[in-house]
Amino acid sequence: MRPWNFSAGPSKFPEAVLKTAAAEMLDWHGSGMSVMEMSHRGKEFMRIRDEAEQDLRDLLQVPDEFAVLFMQGGAQAQNALVPLNLLGLKPAAKADYVVSGSWSKKSFQEAQRFGDIQLAASSDSVSQIDGAERSALAWFPEPNTWKVRADSSYVHVCSNETIGGVEFNDWPQLDVPLVVDVSSNILSRPLDFTKVDVAYAGAQKNAGPAGLTLVMVRKDLLGVTSDQCPQAFNYELVAKNDSMLNTPPTYSIYLAGLVFKWLKEQGGVGAIEQANIAKAQLFYSYLDNSDFYRNTVEPSVRSRMNIPFLLREPELDKVFLVEAEQAGLLQLRGHKSVGGMRASIYNAMPLEGVQALVDFMQGFEARHG
Ligand SMILES: *Cc1c(COP(=O)(O)O)cnc(C)c1O
Repeated sequence: MRPWNFSAGPSKFPEAVLKTAAAEMLDWHGSGMSVMEMSHRGKEFMRIRDEAEQDLRDLLQVPDEFAVLFMQGGAQAQNALVPLNLLGLKPAAKADYVVSGSWSKKSFQEAQRFGDIQLAASSDSVSQIDGAERSALAWFPEPNTWKVRADSSYVHVCSNETIGGVEFNDWPQLDVPLVVDVSSNILSRPLDFTKVDVAYAGAQKNAGPAGLTLVMVRKDLLGVTSDQCPQAFNYELVAKNDSMLNTPPTYSIYLAGLVFKWLKEQGGVGAIEQANIAKAQLFYSYLDNSDFYRNTVEPSVRSRMNIPFLLREPELDKVFLVEAEQAGLLQLRGHKSVGGMRASIYNAMPLEGVQALVDFMQGFEARHG
């Protein structure tokens, strides 16, 4: 058996997908070609691409009013591409950003280069709620506190802060378009396209290989791209060309397509959401009942995907990682800005893997606590 891989990203793939890819590596469906060797305009690859788009649409129930784009450059490229493509929606070239963690902070900072960008709200400070203190970036600014300017082109948020472990999905109905970075919780739960106008994701957390980027954008927001935007990253042109404006990342699209088919076999997003709830409950209830480990995120916005946790004695961090690896539990080191550990339990991680981690942690506590 392979070890359990808790990497935050690039992260664990469904094993069945890796096996299919291996079996099809030299000869895809009797074509005599590896997918890597196919023309992106040939009938074989066109079928792979079309099915990937349709499967993604089916899984997330993406309405017909939305274009689905397969782009490149990862989610961080979108930090520039979102303003370049969308600030032109209104003459003032303004946008408002909600900062709830490291990723949305990066988005906010990069956008500054392109227009009049302001904070709608930020959790980057210690604050009080009901007399209790909440630590910086360990909570989510409630939508009724957002300052959204009426002449803004859009509001930008992040639905799951991969580093801080903060997740929020209860979007308000806004008068300006809502742009959501869904990189680390896409396909782990439904996405409400009545409230979300643009959603983008780097694929490497829950959808496929690093580099591939999924963008779902309401078609009536297209056509206002800045002249400064590289043509290969112009949403409207990419949409018009079915993501074939330039050579798309063909092999990555194929792998993402296999992940989508695997998800359908699991029963779709509704079924995987139930599995994700069960996994997160198992892990958080263990953490909450231990005084050896702790998670400091406000309980109502704890991420189902990324669970940072601290050991009571940080001197034990190194030993924990060594022993975990010996036990077949990989890549648990926390992000350097948070410290401690982080267990990323995306769609591809079964309950069994989370149980193995909890069992190990119990044993570790017994030996060192
Ligand atoms: C990983 C991640 C990114 C960055 O993705 P890249 O593909 O490395 O650019 C951005 N936002 C979130 C929420 C992420 O988890």
